[in-house]
Amino acid sequence: MTQLLPDYWDCFSADYSAARRAFVAAATQRGAALSRHEHPTLKDPHGEPLSVDVAVLGRAGAKRTHLAISGTHGLEGAAGSAVQIAWLRADGGIPLPEDVNVVLVHALNPYGYAYDTRTTENNVDLNRNFIDHTQPTPPNPHYAELHPHLIPALWTEASLEAGALAVERFRETHGADALFNTTASGQYTHPDGLVYGGSGPEWSNRTLRRIVDEHLAASERVAFIDWHTGIGEYGEPFFLCFNEEGSAEQAQAANWWGAERVRDQRPHGLARPNYQGLVFRGVQQALGARALAGAVVEFGTRGLQMRPALRLDQWLRFKAPQASDAARDAQLRADLVDAFVPVSSVWRRSAVAHGLAITRQAIAGVASW
Ligand SMILES: [Zn+2]
Repeated sequence: MTQLLPDYWDCFSADYSAARRAFVAAATQRGAALSRHEHPTLKDPHGEPLSVDVAVLGRAGAKRTHLAISGTHGLEGAAGSAVQIAWLRADGGIPLPEDVNVVLVHALNPYGYAYDTRTTENNVDLNRNFIDHTQPTPPNPHYAELHPHLIPALWTEASLEAGALAVERFRETHGADALFNTTASGQYTHPDGLVYGGSGPEWSNRTLRRIVDEHLAASERVAFIDWHTGIGEYGEPFFLCFNEEGSAEQAQAANWWGAERVRDQRPHGLARPNYQGLVFRGVQQALGARALAGAVVEFGTRGLQMRPALRLDQWLRFKAPQASDAARDAQLRADLVDAFVPVSSVWRRSAVAHGLAITRQAIAGVASW
């Protein structure tokens, strides 16, 4: 096996539609079985259909599966897509281990990817949407207090400073962990706010369920990665394993990727939020009693400086249209995209190299599980 990396510019694309074409081309070249799930109504900015694309490599019906998802958080999808394409280019021609297949889900939230936002067409954080919507929604008692300070009416130095002061007062009263939990665990009350988990299963949620039911029907052991960006050191992977503490599945993930990466991870050095409605839980539920081990794998970008970027995403979506200033908005949007998927070659080469290594570990891991 060659250890040379694919060139990062062959893995990253300029936008959603170019990334989709590159993914389909790389998968086709490797003889993958492709399927396309088109959004029933929405188009991308070029007027082309939005879709979730699935590539299956290896035998359909294998007992062991590596499942990797890109684009759960829309615009973060450029990184996960690049890793999927890098793996197809580097290793897609190498026979998989006995009874292992690879299922690559490209752009699970294609609207968010195509329109440079983390959330779905309904502003839903897809990674908070996999709750049981027939039950009362999980409470987030402090979110309402913070909401007006997080998404100001105007995006100016003065309003950001005032918002930062209010958030700082909250931190002094409740602590840094409570602040992080309030702004990250999920909320179900403010459809124009951060980490809004929605009022029902999103189209992307229902689509993922169909994909798991169809392509993982025979899979008994699944090594799962949901690719993200924004937490961790610059260009470095950061693992959020959602298997139960002390479980056999968590031990598997620790074997594949290293115990020091998988156990007791503190995002931004803070206590892990009580995340609700994760994609991980949705896949777990779809698999039932079958074994799932894996993680959200992030690539770090700006550390705690991502907080303004998360708010900017919402501000551009809900407030910018009323205060139209195209030149300003173009700069802000470029900064938003660069916050989640830096243009820097240093970052992109690192993401490709780590992503490829982590994918190889997952495949080798599920083969010997
Ligand atoms: Zn994310």
